[in-house]
Amino acid sequence: MKFDHILIRYGELALKKKNRSFFEKQLVNNLKNALKMFPQVEIHKTYGRMHVVLNDTPFEEVAQRIQQVFGIVSFSPVIKTDLDLEKIKEASLNMISQIDPAPKTFKVETNRANKQFPHKSMELNHLIGSHILRNTQDLKVDVHEPDVKLRVDVRTEGVFISSYDIPGIGGLPVGVSGKAMLMLSGGIDSPVAGWLTMKRGVTVEAVHFHSYPFTSQQARDKVIELARIMSRYSGRLKLHLVPLTEIQTLIRQRCPEDYTITIMRRMMMRITEKLAEKNGALAISTGESLAQVASQTMESMNTINRVVRLPVIRPLVTMDKLEIMEIARKIGTYETSIQPYEDCCTIFVPKSPVTRPTPEKAEKFEQALEVEELVQDAVERTEVMWITPEEPEDEFDLF
Ligand code: ATP
Ligand code: MG
Repeated sequence: MKFDHILIRYGELALKKKNRSFFEKQLVNNLKNALKMFPQVEIHKTYGRMHVVLNDTPFEEVAQRIQQVFGIVSFSPVIKTDLDLEKIKEASLNMISQIDPAPKTFKVETNRANKQFPHKSMELNHLIGSHILRNTQDLKVDVHEPDVKLRVDVRTEGVFISSYDIPGIGGLPVGVSGKAMLMLSGGIDSPVAGWLTMKRGVTVEAVHFHSYPFTSQQARDKVIELARIMSRYSGRLKLHLVPLTEIQTLIRQRCPEDYTITIMRRMMMRITEKLAEKNGALAISTGESLAQVASQTMESMNTINRVVRLPVIRPLVTMDKLEIMEIARKIGTYETSIQPYEDCCTIFVPKSPVTRPTPEKAEKFEQALEVEELVQDAVERTEVMWITPEEPEDEFDLF
């Protein structure tokens, strides 16, 4: 079927007046950015809605990108016609005849925002409905539970006819809620945590700690690929690659073995907070989930959290692994995350890490390290990359 437009709906009701225009502007920007690979496409904002004019760009390709833009509640493919009764009837018939699988029942719902149009809504419902009935064989009208609701929107600029809604990913447009630093490992959890953070409108910058040359080039490529997949949802993403090798080596030489992971995590937190300050972020986001692994106990979270003042957002904290994996599949990070390349944490795993560390002991053991200097040095040697989604995308089904 050939659609000319896409009608986009967003969650305006939840918005306070003064935030609305800020929200809308950000959404238009994000949408433009998401659709910039389609040069023919135009975006128009009308009252409380947005219209994407396809100008011959295939609907499916554009729809796939729209499903990656936060802030969109739903959208519909639309046929536009002139303000002319015969044309409206033809276009409606055309729309309903091409729905696959063919519906058995339908209902016409007209909304006549343009009061200049000579036929009233009820009359239009009737005229369009009977035209469809006369020209099809097995279709019936059902006003209560129709298979298809044919929506006819009569406006000043024309008539828009649509027959179904596709859910968007919801949330808020990225950019309306400030910035957070995401601690991005190569695992399954942190990309999901990052996606959920973005979903609330937060601009995310990713921080990854590596132990090159103990960790491989493939491990690095994997994280870049994860960042790239995440960037489809935000347009682009800044990735900070922090060398942790020296710090890990010193921890191993100077601190008790069962505390190495705890102290390493505290160092990561401190470095991430410094990078947050440098980049204007007001929170840290992690993929921690309570009691998932030995290191994610309440005591461990507390001991690690002590070293920073910024709020730490943990979107996965109460989720089961299965729920997290389901989101990872949906957003497209799962297959990359399960590639076996080790990250810095898997390389220096002690035989029996402490499960109930205390901040006091961690502090005592850290006296063997030049904490401030090490943090500063790691920040200075951090490499920055801007990641964009431009790499060819795998086909994926609309969800
Ligand atoms: P993930 O699946 O995200 O790797 P995990 O289940 O392996 O998480 P941990 O290894 O305990 O859990 O890590 C907890 C969190 O610490 C991660 O979700 C991530 O936010 C952060 N983290 C761990 N390793 C790194 C790393 N190398 N670089 C940046 N952040 C990291
Ligand atoms: Mg991990």
